[in-house]
Amino acid sequence: MDLTTTPDQERLRGEFRAWLHEHLPWEYGVGLPPRFADLAEEVAFGRRWQADLAAAGWVGVTWPTAYGGRGLGPGENFVVQEELARARAPELVGRIGINLSGPTLLAHGSDAQKQRWLPAVLPATELWCQLFSEPDAGSDLAAVRTRARRVDGGWVLDGQKVWTSYAQFADWAVCLARSDTAAPKHKGLSFFVVDMHADGVEVRPLVQLTGEAEFNEVILHDVFVPDDQLVGNEGDGWRVAGSTLSHERGVNPRQLVIHMQHLEELLRTAVTEGAFDEQRLRRRLAQAYVEVRLFQLHNWRSLSKLERGLAPGPEGSILKLYWSEMSKRLHELALDVLGPAAALWRGAGDNPGDGSWQRAWLYYQAASIFAGTNEIQRNVIGERVLGLPREPEAPVARPAADGAGDGDRARQEAGRGNR
Ligand SMILES: Cc1cc2nc3c(=O)[nH]c(=O)nc-3n(C[C@H](O)[C@H](O)[C@H](O)COP(=O)(O)OP(=O)(O)OC[C@H]3O[C@@H](n4cnc5c(N)ncnc54)[C@H](O)[C@@H]3O)c2cc1C
Repeated sequence: MDLTTTPDQERLRGEFRAWLHEHLPWEYGVGLPPRFADLAEEVAFGRRWQADLAAAGWVGVTWPTAYGGRGLGPGENFVVQEELARARAPELVGRIGINLSGPTLLAHGSDAQKQRWLPAVLPATELWCQLFSEPDAGSDLAAVRTRARRVDGGWVLDGQKVWTSYAQFADWAVCLARSDTAAPKHKGLSFFVVDMHADGVEVRPLVQLTGEAEFNEVILHDVFVPDDQLVGNEGDGWRVAGSTLSHERGVNPRQLVIHMQHLEELLRTAVTEGAFDEQRLRRRLAQAYVEVRLFQLHNWRSLSKLERGLAPGPEGSILKLYWSEMSKRLHELALDVLGPAAALWRGAGDNPGDGSWQRAWLYYQAASIFAGTNEIQRNVIGERVLGLPREPEAPVARPAADGAGDGDRARQEAGRGNR
């Protein structure tokens, strides 16, 4: 493992840091991003911020230059993410396009599809969402039932998706649907791009614990999808979706950025709240620091593999399990640092952070579910790292799988969600 950055990477870091000092919409390196009146306002702000970054070439640095990227490697991308964290910059609203749909189209899209969709991804001119999960297909993603029927000139999609983040703001979606009900379940799937403004697309926001409605149910009622919006071949959906998910596997700079920001803010709050005077809290604060640092080192280990052109492998599951549990501990500690104020919400007096810690505590309860549940990660680690026997097939009356069994499903799942 080589943890030193190259002179070119350090030059890139300096250039980006200088840009951030000049363009960040608030004071460099201080506080958490502001809270917005509602999600729509936050998304509107996020689109402007991403457009500014993209115009200067700071979004999707690993993307080809033809589509607005810089054609750089994972190491350079990591440097850029670290600088965003240091600056306390807002996160990118178009992340599903940048990290999931875009790389899938780059790998499997036709030239016409790439030219049509990719230029609008990095500047957030068009936003994307991911129509994968369904009420009966989450961890077992290959069980999707949304039906794609062949018609003249294309396909008609019917079904129900759920937990679709940002669907209410999205212009396009990547969608997994069953195009052949007679084929074994992994083989009957196709991968489509769906126009979220098309007739028959109904988006119903779902209110979360935080009171916000970031994710949605999406009902597809006879939605026409033209032939040129099928990605890959008919029946190739499982393979295409697997490649989508593998792009994010192995390193998680986004959560590293967020948690480094949260840790620094927590340490600041702990100083003002006198938490370092209490031995019990002081020890846990030190532990939180160590854990975020370990998360960074886990990322670096996978990164050095990626840099050498190797697949990150099942370490992706270890990373997910580690950061999601670390996150829950960190947010639990934040509430203990707040003491009696932990029970307050936004707008209350004497409430350090004005409810942002309470909101983050609620939000990160979901960390053990999104991007592949922690039980699924444990299955992957058990089978693929520790070499334990494979999970037995559930005794359900489903058509026989085609050899892509639970281990494959779990591996697919390990990279899910891009949260
Ligand atoms: C905040 C958030 C945002 C999301 N955004 C999106 C999105 O934009 N697009 C999208 O498509 N999806 C999204 N998801 C959905 C997410 O991918 C699923 O919630 C996740 O894959 C789990 O599926 P499920 O909820 O159907 O649970 P299930 O798969 O039904 O699992 C229920 C429980 O059973 C356990 N379980 C299931 N199978 C096994 C097994 N084989 N061994 C052991 N335990 C098992 C699970 O761990 C879990 O505890 C999002 C989820 C969240 C929480």
